[in-house]
Amino acid sequence: MHCGLCLPTCPTYVLTGLEKSSPRGRIRLIKAVAERELEITTGFIEEMNFCLDCQACETVCPAGVKYGSLVESARAQISWGDHEGWSTRFIKRLFLNKLFSKAERLVWFARLLRLYQDSGFDWLMKKTGLLRVFSKRLDQIQFLAPKISLLSSKTRLEREYKALENPRYRVGFLTGCIMDLAFADVNVDTVELLVHHGCEVVFPPSQVCCGSLQAHNGEMDAARSLARQNVEAFTDLNLDALVMNSAGCGAFMKEYGSVLRNEAEYAAPAAEIAKKVKDISEFLCEIGLRANRLSSRMRGSKRVTYHDACHLVHSQKISEEPRKLIKSIPSVEFVELPESTWCCGSAGVYNITHYDTAMELLDRKIKNIRRVDPDIIVTSNPGCLVQLEHGLRKEGMNIELLHLATFLRRACCE
Ligand code: SF4
Ligand code: SF4
Repeated sequence: MHCGLCLPTCPTYVLTGLEKSSPRGRIRLIKAVAERELEITTGFIEEMNFCLDCQACETVCPAGVKYGSLVESARAQISWGDHEGWSTRFIKRLFLNKLFSKAERLVWFARLLRLYQDSGFDWLMKKTGLLRVFSKRLDQIQFLAPKISLLSSKTRLEREYKALENPRYRVGFLTGCIMDLAFADVNVDTVELLVHHGCEVVFPPSQVCCGSLQAHNGEMDAARSLARQNVEAFTDLNLDALVMNSAGCGAFMKEYGSVLRNEAEYAAPAAEIAKKVKDISEFLCEIGLRANRLSSRMRGSKRVTYHDACHLVHSQKISEEPRKLIKSIPSVEFVELPESTWCCGSAGVYNITHYDTAMELLDRKIKNIRRVDPDIIVTSNPGCLVQLEHGLRKEGMNIELLHLATFLRRACCE
């Protein structure tokens, strides 16, 4: 089928008007490479990497084409065959395989980054633009680094978490990598919210990064290794659900059954784990939100809008649940964000690898935010939080940006 219904929903097609940068064009390219009509050329690699993997095309495709799997397989093929330049290979392997795949290394890297952020150098570089002398790109992307939390969420939860005596549910929680180190507050808010809803929360220390960043960038061996470790960590815990607060992690962990399907030892437990994975919004809608004690910070009418994270709305098909939860808070006037499902440009590491395109998409998002002029923007993914915060700061817009878990904890538990 080549109906082209996906074309107007594809950000890279809308930006360029080029068929090769559309889902249909990319599918043709992938097919041609698979049937050996086309070599893996630089143009092919560029096109596969130019795709945001936002999966907006999947949502509208009447034939149910699994575009995300196609592009991720193509990226894996590029990676296995060492078709990329040495510098790209080096950076990908250094960051995705060596750093993000090893929790201790990532913790040390985050500590150094926090030291840099606190030392005054970070401020100086941003203020003077000195980094531009070395690299224009480095100067641009320094503004996209999230502020590292003073303490990781794992450390805080080990100290602060108190289990309930008679819990209604027993749920697992993935602390994640970026979420753990740069969004520790959001993780703690999520756990508090779960406890408020009668949950005993289990966060096994042996859990690791979910592997989604690696999988989306073609590093499937590293992604599978992380998936195996998480399957081991969360198996036999007698969980009612495994709750996630990062759309990208949730989308990938729901695929664990398929990712490990060819591994005799892991296929069955991975499929079991995948069935238990639920986004926090999905889980709270199922068990019912307890918003009976409205906090003082939430009193007074608030105009609230919601930005859909691609891996929640397009990969997991979750769009109603967060809206339903936000609307159920009595003081909220919910305003629908125009083009709320249009990618903000964050897309994993896309805003680093394709800075200019990512900023064009961010500008479009900011224009839409201006049209509704909210007090609060709510979203469900760390990448979106970083990207939107950058856009709001750049434009000097005084709008509060909150993760859904933080918004709901404020409303229900403070
Ligand atoms: S995943 Fe997003 S950017 Fe890629 S082809 Fe589909 S709609 Fe376009
Ligand atoms: S991917 Fe789906 S929507 Fe896009 S052209 Fe093919 S069949 Fe049509």
